[in-house]
Amino acid sequence: ATNRLRQASARSRSKRLFSRAKAVFPDGTARATVERDPFPIYVQRGEGAYLIDVDGNRFLDLNNTYTTLIHGHGFAPVAEAVVDLLRSGTCFANPTEHEIALAELLTTRIPAMERVRFVNSGTEAVMFAIKAARAFTGRPAIARIEGAYHGAYDWAEAGQGVSPGKDGWEPVSIATPTYRGTPSSVAEEVHLLRFNDVESLEARLRAVSDRIACVIIDPMPSRAGLMHPEPDFIEALSQTARKYGILIIADEVLNLRQGYAGASARYGLNPDLITAGKIIGGGFPIGAIGGREEVMRVFSIEDAKPLLSQGGTFSANPVSMAAGLAAMAAMTPDAFDHLEAMGDRLRAGLSASIARRDARFSVTGAASLFRIHPKRVAPVEYRDAYLSAEEASLMRRMSRHFLELSILLPYGAAACLSTAMVDSDIDLVLTAFDDFLKAEIQ
Ligand code: PLP
Repeated sequence: ATNRLRQASARSRSKRLFSRAKAVFPDGTARATVERDPFPIYVQRGEGAYLIDVDGNRFLDLNNTYTTLIHGHGFAPVAEAVVDLLRSGTCFANPTEHEIALAELLTTRIPAMERVRFVNSGTEAVMFAIKAARAFTGRPAIARIEGAYHGAYDWAEAGQGVSPGKDGWEPVSIATPTYRGTPSSVAEEVHLLRFNDVESLEARLRAVSDRIACVIIDPMPSRAGLMHPEPDFIEALSQTARKYGILIIADEVLNLRQGYAGASARYGLNPDLITAGKIIGGGFPIGAIGGREEVMRVFSIEDAKPLLSQGGTFSANPVSMAAGLAAMAAMTPDAFDHLEAMGDRLRAGLSASIARRDARFSVTGAASLFRIHPKRVAPVEYRDAYLSAEEASLMRRMSRHFLELSILLPYGAAACLSTAMVDSDIDLVLTAFDDFLKAEIQ
């Protein structure tokens, strides 16, 4: 009870800030993904596993900036690495040693990353990985998993917001543009695959194999359901791609946090290109494209005619590089094991509550990531995880229940743990969830 959020009046500052913000932002927020129920929580500061809002309320943060902050907020080694840099220049047209050090760390740990390039966001990393696959193969089209999120590049976005029509789900085929006005030529070059569906995979790729540069796949697509890739599916994808000369891009912008060597290594996927972001910047903007040396040569200006020029004013800025290095250096194999053990305890505890109360919920995820579904059977692909209007409103109720207990729980995307969390934080989440189920069932 001591942790219970005070009444709405205790959020009066956030409410006032939202009124101000409405005059300058299209819907009152500077980005689309901000929770507003009915107004956002404006942050004053972060402290390890917790956020403190402008009204002085403390919240356990299971969002961690969309899974970026693997050490939680204000991680001292990152702050120390960055403070000195702030006074000695934060971006240069010339390279710095920091970028080499971060690239060395990544290429040492992640088998699929023989060479790396840095950019400023996951969106940009995905964009350049797709361009690299096109440049390498000379083919224009891509294939991607229905419903998965890969950022805002038009080609990566088409096929993301799929929903059932009034007669149910359409067969898988060409993507539809996610947003009105996107040229139809974009969607025509984006072919859809269903996650974990071995049967449709080969036929879909065969039909268009001479046009497809790459399959982009997140090994555990978070917004599509955060479900495990089945070994058969990984195997079929690898074989089919090899057969038709299609590159595999593993989008690990989010799932690199699954282990010391990343998610592809964990699930037996051997991609040609790999994208990273989020945790590798230690809380500063970053993206990375890595891959086989042979494929990454498309970026090289040493060749008479580089196939692809990738620059970016802020790419490889020393602040993101140094912060990323400090954050990643602290993610030793032991640190990953510790996070995984906490994640296992959390997922097992949530599932035990569900079983005990015979509730129509399920839990997916791995390592430090989890997602709660209002579905009796855990989803294996996007269509299983898709929320009806009634299920979406149940999930909003759940999120509100957690908020009242001072826990920020994203739904419809991955929630995550950080190394700043301790056992009592996990207990807090388990109790909150069990209370929610109890109230729902009565
Ligand atoms: N790819 C994946 C798998 C992601 O989860 C995200 C972001 O959540 C992106 C790409 C886009 O990254 P960013 O938000 O840094 O542009």
